[in-house]
Amino acid sequence: MKRALVLGGGFAGLEASIQLAGRGLDVTLVSDRPYLFVYPTSIWIPTGEATFEATCLDLAEVARRRGFAFRQGAVEAIEPAARRARVGGEWLDADHLVIAFGGARLRPPGVEHTQTIGGDPAATTRFQAALDALLARGAGRIAMGFGGNPSDGSAVRGGPVFEMMFNVDTLLRRRGLREKFTLTFFAPMPSPGERMGKKAVAATVAMFGRLGIELRAGKKITGFDAGGVRFEDGGRLDADLTLFLPAGDGHPVVKGSGLPVNAAGFVTVDPGCAVPGFPGVWAIGDAAALEGPAWRAKQGHLAEAMARVAAENVAAVEAGRPATASYLEHLSILCVMDTGTGAAFVQRDDRHERLIPLPVVGHWMKKGWGSYFKGTKLGRLPRLPGL
Ligand SMILES: Cc1cc2nc3c(=O)[nH]c(=O)nc-3n(C[C@H](O)[C@H](O)[C@H](O)COP(=O)(O)OP(=O)(O)OC[C@H]3O[C@@H](n4cnc5c(N)ncnc54)[C@H](O)[C@@H]3O)c2cc1C
Repeated sequence: MKRALVLGGGFAGLEASIQLAGRGLDVTLVSDRPYLFVYPTSIWIPTGEATFEATCLDLAEVARRRGFAFRQGAVEAIEPAARRARVGGEWLDADHLVIAFGGARLRPPGVEHTQTIGGDPAATTRFQAALDALLARGAGRIAMGFGGNPSDGSAVRGGPVFEMMFNVDTLLRRRGLREKFTLTFFAPMPSPGERMGKKAVAATVAMFGRLGIELRAGKKITGFDAGGVRFEDGGRLDADLTLFLPAGDGHPVVKGSGLPVNAAGFVTVDPGCAVPGFPGVWAIGDAAALEGPAWRAKQGHLAEAMARVAAENVAAVEAGRPATASYLEHLSILCVMDTGTGAAFVQRDDRHERLIPLPVVGHWMKKGWGSYFKGTKLGRLPRLPGL
């Protein structure tokens, strides 16, 4: 039986493990955390609408139910030519090596003065504690923003920060505190969120206006300090609490591995998710360098599509058939952007640039998606096409 070693138990790695095991491979998934953190629903942890535990999916349980092995451990090094990885000092090898451990984050000067979401799940609970402490003071200034990566625009992630801003606004209104707090959104690009399309940007700006959220866009961020954000033109944004989501950067283990990478350090892949020059090595999800239109973005649904493409191509290679599946046809931006009380369905691809408001129901749809996601991974619910 051919063996596959999947590195990273996030959206990409878990789906790849399920798909490869389903195709008869002997699969081992290695990940440094015992759980998959469901980032899309983690936005409700800081505002108390979701618990940390409810946002985690136990990888050992999925492995048991889906017929693959799970090993908790940090990958320290990769030797792609030998299709092997070192975990806790031990080299593990396989016929197929799937790199799925997401990315790292850029670290602008003074970033330690900010709170964040995404990345290390513990950051989300630290932000929750900081927010609780500020709200307990009864008044304050909250700034939230995201950064860019000039080397790879697809690694920019602004959506969750918009969602967090709307959810904090909702929380403050529910507690009767909104008038006591200023809320300011900042980003270096002139039109934050433009990857989602012009309609989405216009709707977001209009909503900021209606809610009294100030927008500071188009100024390069030079750094942070304990009192807020500094900009290139010498200006600053004073804040008691700053939430900042830096753009993605290549994973340190990838950078030291000799794998081909793009300027930002993400693994170069062909449309079939194979790494050129290294037969049997595949890279999927946030770890991979995406090709395609300027609006392309690293997202969970694309990470899963890449996992299915890679698994299909692994099976084709093993059967002596050409590997024809391509992730390029799955490139799109698809999200239900939560607005605290409702949501907006955003779709962008070669043919569509849509924003459909989903008042009230959208909020609950996104919450329902979290349970659906876990249920499908555990094999308790059938997967609906396209979801
Ligand atoms: C707050 C937030 C909200 C989001 N909302 C949405 C949304 O609504 N819709 C959407 O489509 N996308 C959303 N995204 C983006 C989506 O979560 C990512 O695109 C997706 O998680 C990428 O999956 P991945 O498996 O490639 O990487 P990750 O999910 O980052 O998984 C990587 C895994 O590898 C593990 N790992 C890392 N280094 C090592 C190592 N050295 N050894 C072993 N294991 C390692 C990590 O612990 C992690 O489990 C959101 C992201 C954030 C941060």
